[in-house]
Amino acid sequence: MISLTETFVSIQGEGLNVGKPAFFIRTGKCSIRCKLCDTSYSWNSPKKIPISHLIKEAQKQNLPTVIITGGEPLEEEKINVLIEELKKQKNIKEIIVETCGAIFRNDLPQEKLKLVVSPKPPSMKEKFPVENALNLLKFYKNSELKIGVLTDEDFKFAKDLILKAKPLPSHTPVIQPIETPKENYSETVKKVIKMILSDREFINKTNIRIIPQIHKLIGIK
Ligand code: SF4
Repeated sequence: MISLTETFVSIQGEGLNVGKPAFFIRTGKCSIRCKLCDTSYSWNSPKKIPISHLIKEAQKQNLPTVIITGGEPLEEEKINVLIEELKKQKNIKEIIVETCGAIFRNDLPQEKLKLVVSPKPPSMKEKFPVENALNLLKFYKNSELKIGVLTDEDFKFAKDLILKAKPLPSHTPVIQPIETPKENYSETVKKVIKMILSDREFINKTNIRIIPQIHKLIGIK
């Protein structure tokens, strides 16, 4: 069984996979409790669903990419079984799992898996366990680092982490401007882009992309 918030079909709106049509599974647990969380409705879903039902729905939707998001998918004890079963489906070419990286686990199948690790910066969470996130990035060969940034302090957090993760292969870190209830998202995006562009030394040391959440800019799920 998996705790489930919802399933839906859309395009991936963020990170290096932006634009991919996908079947989304949003799990229903998260104990991290970040400030500015945009999916707090997925922290404690009462709905539990058999893995076989999710596999049937994924088959019916017939899309090459399945994205498991949350909540925090790695808090689901049987998430490894769900990925294993999805992996067996011929029409599914990749399974993207989005995690904040607070929990390390080494039992996910690597074949067809892409792990997107998004450690939370100070404006969302004080004292985030970054070592777990770095260990996930090291352990899963197909993994990506994506960090939300809103403030100068967040940018400093992102820079430290990106430079620590730099020796990893296929390292193209993403900085994602964070949405707040106080400001129009496109205004926040402009400010964050300006902040990062002002640090040429950092840009020249890394291979970063600054990618806003396009689903929020265009108003889709
Ligand atoms: S880890 Fe993700 S789902 Fe959990 S509280 Fe933080 S932002 Fe929200």
